[in-house]
Amino acid sequence: MKVLKFGGSSVADATRISAVMDIVCPAAEGSRVVLVLSAISGCTDALLECSRLEGRALSDALKKLEDRHIRIARRLFTGGDFLEAEQSIKQIFRSIEAAAPQSRVTFGEVLSTTIVERKLRCEGYRTHWCDSRKLVRTAGGKLDEGLTYAFISKEISSHPDAGIFVAPGFIASDENGLPTTLGRGGSDYSAAIYAAALGADSLQIWTDVSGMMTANPKTVAAARTIPRISYEAALELARCGAKVLYAPTVEPAMKAGIEINILNTFEPKSSGTVVCACPTSERRTRWMGVTSLQCSDESCCELTLVGEGVSERSNASRRLLTCLQDAGLKPLGDVLGSGSVFKVRLRSSVEREALHSVHREFFEERKENVINVFLAGYGAVGKALVDILASGSERIIKRTGRSIRIVGVSDSKHYIIDMQGLGSASIAARLHEGESAAGCAFIKAVCDVAPRGSVFVDASDSCTLYKSYPELFRRRVGIVTSNRRSLATDYCDYAALKSEAMENGVTFRYDTTVGNALPLLESISSGANCSDELLSIEAVVSCTLNYIITNYDGVRAKSFASLLKKAQDEGLTEKDPRVDLAGGDVLRKLLILAREALVPLEESDVKITPALPEEFFHCSLEEFYAKLQSYESEFVRLEDELDAMGKRRRFVASLIADPKAPKGYRAEIKMRLVSAESPFYWLSGTENVVVVRSRYSSAPMVIKGAGEGDKLAASGIIRDILL
Ligand code: ASP
Ligand code: MG
Repeated sequence: MKVLKFGGSSVADATRISAVMDIVCPAAEGSRVVLVLSAISGCTDALLECSRLEGRALSDALKKLEDRHIRIARRLFTGGDFLEAEQSIKQIFRSIEAAAPQSRVTFGEVLSTTIVERKLRCEGYRTHWCDSRKLVRTAGGKLDEGLTYAFISKEISSHPDAGIFVAPGFIASDENGLPTTLGRGGSDYSAAIYAAALGADSLQIWTDVSGMMTANPKTVAAARTIPRISYEAALELARCGAKVLYAPTVEPAMKAGIEINILNTFEPKSSGTVVCACPTSERRTRWMGVTSLQCSDESCCELTLVGEGVSERSNASRRLLTCLQDAGLKPLGDVLGSGSVFKVRLRSSVEREALHSVHREFFEERKENVINVFLAGYGAVGKALVDILASGSERIIKRTGRSIRIVGVSDSKHYIIDMQGLGSASIAARLHEGESAAGCAFIKAVCDVAPRGSVFVDASDSCTLYKSYPELFRRRVGIVTSNRRSLATDYCDYAALKSEAMENGVTFRYDTTVGNALPLLESISSGANCSDELLSIEAVVSCTLNYIITNYDGVRAKSFASLLKKAQDEGLTEKDPRVDLAGGDVLRKLLILAREALVPLEESDVKITPALPEEFFHCSLEEFYAKLQSYESEFVRLEDELDAMGKRRRFVASLIADPKAPKGYRAEIKMRLVSAESPFYWLSGTENVVVVRSRYSSAPMVIKGAGEGDKLAASGIIRDILL
């Protein structure tokens, strides 16, 4: 059973009702449907007004409302169908006139459902009109759940032939059998009651906005849809001012474990909001929305910020207060926070401004005009970065309207910070005389002085620096890193870093960690963001191995060992080049590529076959080189054999969709033999190639280009900073 509820604006006129039909009819194809409707928009207000009128004024007002309904019927029906519809509308208006004044308001939903039920019947559906006044019962002003659920189940089971049940929302009757309502906006609640009574497998609330939003879109234009939200958080938002959902709706759905899908009749394809029991395992702060509500004293309002799983670390109260103060708004009292809900009172005159500031702080990404950069790592890449910025800053300003200012630099021993900016020429000298960088001193200093929106660049080869990233995020400092260690540890650490950055609304980019400046991660993640299904990634991304193998291909002027030594001397390899030969570096890159495609790959999921046999790895580096030398003739023989076959060796990392594999993908790193048709065959030097296949693209995407180069890496970092 599906329960679909449509609000007043969704049935406001004949065109809207046709749009409702376009949604309901397909839904009724594979399932029985309960259709719950509000009164046409404005009708409940008009009827409430009528309850205060009498005599001529009353009949005039009712006539106007009657005409509106008849006009709708005239557009929806023809011939005899129209006459019958007209008759039934007139009949209902006679009942309204005869009803007790306080009961008049209960007829709006009777009217809208009568019209729509007839329309469905004319279209050939087997329908049944449910009289919610008989089925939905209140006692002491509250829903009598036992009675109501029993009545509803009985009503449905006694009409086994009906495919679509049409039920008025909002209305009920009390313990004395007198008509009553469930409160303004109560049709949502009616729908949840029907759904819970019937154990429906779907409850859809169709309205005129695309679900619950991070703020009221009429006040905050930048508000966006919340895709998933817990029952608790949705209830909190609804209670504290979000008009899109009537708060009592949540309880019956939550108790019955039915998800509420809030959808937009004007945008039927957008997926709206799902209100559900969100997984508690996701232990990270997520901000859901900000609302406001007039206090009983009309000159003030209460602003409520609602999140999920808000950790104490997030410092939400302080952040809320600071952002209001930064905007020059004075709260009336403290921020009251309990769990994931934070409240603060303000003067009503600043309500709008406060909503904007809080929304900007917690829900919008900010772009600063001057980006202050703290650079960790003053090796080749760090130096290239400083050089490019020294000579190219004009161009960056011209093209992006923003400028990058280096305000801090550290190497492994010292650091310097100067918020006025560091001149490139003097950095090396000043760094030498800078403060000691021992024991995370640089990070501590950055945390103390960094203005919001600053970016910390990790161009170091530190194995531990990434442990300080969360602290930087919490200080609202973004991070751009080319240090892939930070992203290739356990998946949960990687995910935690990403969510920490998101929670704090700061940049975290690392495009240069795979394939240097090639636009790899960006391409992969944008596919994943758009639900493209990844079929495979195949990557030749080891600069070391590519360098050696491609230089060895066909020429063999130099021995394998001497080429490796040269690569090591040029700084292409890890300190012990065997880490590369064992696939260690490629492994990190594969993990990052996979994770960017939303595959939570772990080291243990990857099957690695090192580029050389086992024995090469269990000796000292010296012995290793000697052993390589002695193998040279064997290498040459192998290589000649390959030449004869027209093949070449490539060290390939692959991630291939496989429904049988635990995470849906098989991951492997090994030497492969490729022939001339392969995109991996023609490679020179340290070139990287990545081939991505996905559902959306008819041919593989091949990204190929230089996999190393300090200037290139620096340019990739600058791109990340500016994004
Ligand atoms: N028609 C009622 C109201 O305007 C109930 C509803 O629309 O949910 O409050
Ligand atoms: Mg409503």
